[in-house]
Amino acid sequence: MNGATKDTDRKRPRYISDRKGFFSAEQAERTRKRSREMEKKVRTRLSSAKGRAKALAYFDELMRYDGVRAVELKEFREKGGKVVGTLCVMVPLELIEASGAKHIRLCSGYYEPVHPANELLGDAGLCPLVKSTLGSKMVSSDPLVDMADMVAGPATCDGKMKLAEMLEDWVPVVMMNLPRVKLGGTSSELWLNEVLHLKRKLSELTGRKVTKKALVERIRKWNEASELWNKVCDLRKGKDPPISGQDAMLVVQASQSDDIDRWVVKVRELLKELEEKVRSGGSVAEKGSARILLMGSPMIYPNFKIPSIVEESGGSIVTDELCTGFRLMADPVLLDDLSEKEIYSALADRYYFPCSCPCFSPNDERLTRLFNAITTFGVDGVVFHSLRGCHLNNLEATKIELALRERGIPMVKLESEYDEGDVEQVRTRVEAFVEMLKARRKK
Ligand code: SF4
Ligand code: SF4
Repeated sequence: MNGATKDTDRKRPRYISDRKGFFSAEQAERTRKRSREMEKKVRTRLSSAKGRAKALAYFDELMRYDGVRAVELKEFREKGGKVVGTLCVMVPLELIEASGAKHIRLCSGYYEPVHPANELLGDAGLCPLVKSTLGSKMVSSDPLVDMADMVAGPATCDGKMKLAEMLEDWVPVVMMNLPRVKLGGTSSELWLNEVLHLKRKLSELTGRKVTKKALVERIRKWNEASELWNKVCDLRKGKDPPISGQDAMLVVQASQSDDIDRWVVKVRELLKELEEKVRSGGSVAEKGSARILLMGSPMIYPNFKIPSIVEESGGSIVTDELCTGFRLMADPVLLDDLSEKEIYSALADRYYFPCSCPCFSPNDERLTRLFNAITTFGVDGVVFHSLRGCHLNNLEATKIELALRERGIPMVKLESEYDEGDVEQVRTRVEAFVEMLKARRKK
C-alpha cells in the first residue's frame, strides 16, 4: 500500500451537502428562469440572422435550455441507461458510446448559476465557467447537467480539477491524470493507462464490456463526423463564408451531447445547403468584413457574447483556435492497425497529442494550429479572449501576441465575465480593432 487514496476511501460529501438548505427554492427557481431567458434570447438572435441556413434550426432545438436532448436522455435513463458528463475535450467520446452509455458536456455557458457558486466558495477570482458549472449542479438549474450518472474529468487547469472534486459530492467522478508536459517518452503511455482506466470504470457503470467491434464501429462514426466537420469549415476559407462563426460553434458544440449518428445526418444536410449557398454566391458576412480568427478561453453556448460582438461589429469569424470550436472535432483517430492495443493507443493519441489546450507545456501545437489557420483561412486579425480568472489563457496570450507580432498579424486581447456588464466596453474595443483591420487591408 503506497498511501494513495483509493476510490472507496473517499468520504462524501466534502463541499456542499452539509449546507443543504443553504439555497432556497426561490433562488433555484430564479436561476432556472434566468438561464432559460438567457438561452432564449441568444437562440432568437442567432435564428433571426440574415441568410442563415435553414438546416441550422435542428441545432437550435437541440441546444435549447429545455430541448429535446434532455427529454431523450431522461427516457434513456428511465430504461436503465447511463449518462456520462465530460468536463474537458480530452475524454474519448467513442469509448463512452462503445460502453453503451451516452455523453453530455457539463461545462456551462449560463451566467446566473455563477451566483450560488460564489456564495458557497467566496472566490471572486475563480473562472466563471467553473463557477457556473458548479452552480448549475448546486441548484439543479441545467436539465442536461442533472442527467450525469458519472463524470469524467481530466486534470487540466486548477479550476477544472477542483470542480471535478467538488462534483463528487453528487456523482461518482473518474479523475483522469492528464500528463501536462508532453515532452519525454512517458506521457503517451501514462495517458493510455488513464484511458484504459476510464474504460474499466465505464464497464462498471453500464455493466457492459467494451468490445473491440463496438469501439471500432464508434471510432469510424466519429471519424465520419470529423470529416464532415472539416468540410463545413473548409467552406469558410472562401471569400463568402456561408456560415457565421457563432453558428459553426453551435453545430460543433451540439456534437458533444447529441446522438452522433443523428448529428452526422443533420450536418450532411447542412453541408449540402451550405455548398449550394457558396455556388450561388451567398454569404452571411457583409462585403468587406474583416476576417477574424477567434481564440482563448472556451465560449460555451449560450455564452456567445464575444463572437456576437465581433460579428455585429463588421468582423467575420472565419475560423477559431478554441476547445469549443474547430479543434473539438478537427482530428480523426488514425486507425492503421486493428489490434486491440493499437486501437486504444490510436484513440488515446487522438485526444492527447493534437490537443492545444493551454494546460499543456510547451504547447507548441497551439502556435502550429494558429499559423496554419491564419494562412489557409486568409485571416486579417486575431481576437484573443480570456475569461476573468483564466490564468492559462491569460499567460498564453503574451506568447501568442509576440509570435503574431513577429509575423505582422494584429491581435486584440479581451477579458470578459459571465454577465452583460462589460458588453459596451468590449464592443468599443472590437469596433476599433475591426476598423483598423479594414483600413489596413485597403492599403
Ligand atoms: S481550455 Fe483546456 S482546460 Fe479549459 S475548458 Fe478547454 S480543454 Fe478544458
Ligand atoms: S476557462 Fe480557463 S480557467 Fe476556466 S476552465 Fe477553461 S482553462 Fe480553466
